[in-house]
Amino acid sequence: MSGMLYLCGTPIGNLSDFSPRGVEILQSVDFIAAEDTRHSLKLLQHFGISKPMVSYFEHNKRERGEQIIKRLLDGESAALITDAGMPAISDPGEDLVLLCHQNGIEVSPVPGPCAAIAALAASGLPTGRFCFEGFLTVNKKGRREHLQGLLKEQRTMIFYEAPHKLCATLSDMLQILGNRRIALAREMTKLHEEIVLTTLEEAEEKYRETPPKGEFVLILEGCGEVEESFETTPQERLAELIASGVSKKDAIRQVAEERKLPKREVYAWTIEE
Ligand code: SAM
Repeated sequence: MSGMLYLCGTPIGNLSDFSPRGVEILQSVDFIAAEDTRHSLKLLQHFGISKPMVSYFEHNKRERGEQIIKRLLDGESAALITDAGMPAISDPGEDLVLLCHQNGIEVSPVPGPCAAIAALAASGLPTGRFCFEGFLTVNKKGRREHLQGLLKEQRTMIFYEAPHKLCATLSDMLQILGNRRIALAREMTKLHEEIVLTTLEEAEEKYRETPPKGEFVLILEGCGEVEESFETTPQERLAELIASGVSKKDAIRQVAEERKLPKREVYAWTIEE
C-alpha cells in the first residue's frame, strides 16, 4: 500500500505559530521534502525534530518529484514543507500534489499559517469574496497586462510582493486601476509587523519617499458593485477623449473624476506623450 504525502504549513515568522499536529507529523513521517533544507533545519532543530530531508524546489521539481513519488508508492510517508506558510501557495508543491493524485497517493493537509489569508483577515477590506493573484511578474509589460485584466474585478484581490518591486507595483496599480483602498500587511507575526489600511495614492507616495523593507502582502479593494467598471485604462480613455475633440484640460478633468485619480497624475501622462 502506498504512503501518504502531508502538506505541512509552517510559520511565516513567529515559530510559536507551528501547530502541535505539525510537529507530530514531521516526527512521524519517513522523510521530509523541503524547499530549502538548510532553512528548514532551523525549524526542525527548534522543535527537536531529527528526520531525513530531501530538497524539492522549482529547479529540481521534475526529477525530484518522480523520486518522491516512487518512495511514496513503495509505502513511505512524507511531509512537504516550504520556507514559510502553506506549501503549494506561490511555493513548490502544486506539481507534487497533482502527481500524487495521478498515482493514487493520498494527500493530507496539515493547515498552518498562510500569508495571504492572514493579511486578508486583518485588512479591513471585504472578505466575503476574494481572489488570489500571487506575484505579479517582474516584466513591466506583463505586470501591466495582468493589472489591466483586473479592471473589472469586483472581488477583493490578494497579491504577494517583494519590497524592491513594491513602488513600481503601487504606481502601476494606481495608474491602471485608479485610486482605491489597499491594505499593506508587512512582516506579519514578526517584530516589525505593520498592517495599514490606506489608499493606493497615499501608499504610493509614502513608499516613494521611504523605501519599503520586509515582506508584503497587498490586499486591494475590488472595483465595487455600484461603481462603473471600465473597458479601457485611464490612459486609453484620455487619448480617446482628446481624439474625439475634447480639450486637453477638460479631458484631464473628466478622466480624473471618472477614475478617481489625482489630476496631476493624469496631467503627467499628457506630458509623457
Ligand atoms: N506559501 C506561502 C504562504 O502560504 O504564506 C507564501 C510563499 S511566497 C514564496 C512568499 C511571499 O509571501 C512573500 O514574498 C510575501 O509576499 C508573503 N509573506 C510571507 N511571509 C510574510 C510575512 N510574514 N508578512 C508579510 N508577507 C509575507
